[in-house]
Amino acid sequence: MAKADKEQYRKQYPQCEKWLQQCLICQTEGYKPEMPKQIGIGLLAQNVRKYYDELPLNEIGLCEACARCYKTVLSPLQSEKQ
Ligand SMILES: [Zn+2]
Repeated sequence: MAKADKEQYRKQYPQCEKWLQQCLICQTEGYKPEMPKQIGIGLLAQNVRKYYDELPLNEIGLCEACARCYKTVLSPLQSEKQ
């Protein structure tokens, strides 16, 4: 899906913003895993799924790939806490 199409969609349906999120590091955009299958009576959820991929983020806002990359950086901090 072309980036311009996505941007146009977001402009047209600003209510979808609520369900979109972005990785802090790689800036990948996607929808929140908790987005319901159906939002209201429209096709919002279906369209968001068509335009975006599911993007689970961890507690500090990183996608899975970035979280894996930064694990080596963050794990010493986490083990200090334990
Ligand atoms: Zn990322």
